[in-house]
Amino acid sequence: MNKQKPLQSDLKLAETLAAERRAARERRPSRAEAEEAVRTLIRWTGDDPDREGLAGTPERVARAYEEYFAGYHDDPVEILQRTFEEVEGYDEMVLLRDIRFESHCEHHMAPILGRAHIAYLPDHRVVGISKLARLVQVYAKRLQIQEKMTAQIANTIQQVLQPLGVAVVIEASHQCMTTRGVHKPGAALATSRMLGVFRENPATRREFLAMLRGGATFED
Ligand SMILES: [Zn+2]
Repeated sequence: MNKQKPLQSDLKLAETLAAERRAARERRPSRAEAEEAVRTLIRWTGDDPDREGLAGTPERVARAYEEYFAGYHDDPVEILQRTFEEVEGYDEMVLLRDIRFESHCEHHMAPILGRAHIAYLPDHRVVGISKLARLVQVYAKRLQIQEKMTAQIANTIQQVLQPLGVAVVIEASHQCMTTRGVHKPGAALATSRMLGVFRENPATRREFLAMLRGGATFED
């Protein structure tokens, strides 16, 4: 039996093919490829992508995806870094409530609609409130699970502003639960991530939760 060693040229070919596959994985698909994928999904549902009403749909879906997933092109750390200010002496809680967001769950790519509440206790840096809202949008406009998004927001604030503590609460409804599967309309998922004094000090946590619930109810 002649057990041949693979030829040098075969090895080269295998290497080249592997490199091409790798490059294809890393390359962002073109808009045309994305639209073709939408046509495939339309066909798979049982409809005809060439009928009049659907003719422009692949293009519209691709454009919508650019919006839904714009967060991949922004660096969350940079958003906070660019704008913080040194403030001496301000040592009260900063709370931004009811930041509305739309995201998509990474398991079904179905919409997640919710609100985020962010609080932190500055040490020496504060950031413009619009930047906090922007931070939420950047993480929301990616494929997400709510727990991960909650932690990412809190961790980024902790990392860049280095406050005494951060609290992030997110309440959201998941359309993968409300429009399919278990069909639980109205069910909302609440997640929270507490760091620093919000985790360690029950009084700070209580103050935060009171502010969240009732507008401004301060506790001593
Ligand atoms: Zn889901």
